[in-house]
Amino acid sequence: MEGCLFCKIAGGEIKSDVVYQDDRVVAFRDINPQAPVHLLIIPREHIPTISDLREQHRELVGHIFLVAGKLADQLGVAREGYRVVANCREAAGQTVFHAHFHLLGGRQFGWPPG
Ligand code: AMP
Ligand code: ZN
Repeated sequence: MEGCLFCKIAGGEIKSDVVYQDDRVVAFRDINPQAPVHLLIIPREHIPTISDLREQHRELVGHIFLVAGKLADQLGVAREGYRVVANCREAAGQTVFHAHFHLLGGRQFGWPPG
């Protein structure tokens, strides 16, 4: 998708601190981390929001959560606990309209979120 920041990151056109990638997803460090571990896991496919997920994405979403779990383990936050967050549209604070999942860990989180 032309002009999409995360498509450019997935394509390597814009540099990022990639920690994992495969044929379906890329995981990289958030540029403005909100926790000691803060990754963004994105599908390579341009999907604007999680509300745009369809039946054809069922496997992809499962894959993203399995990748999140493995990365949390590798980065040493799985045991103490971590959070996976997808902000959907403006009221939830979505600023980049290429669906993504935040993986946050390494500190205590409050509930409910603000
Ligand atoms: P959201 O607010 O849920 O749409 O999350 C977008 C996230 O993308 C924010 O946490 C930003 O800090 C992050 N972000 C924006 N630009 C970049 C970039 N070039 N590299 C890494 N993370 C970015
Ligand atoms: Zn995109």
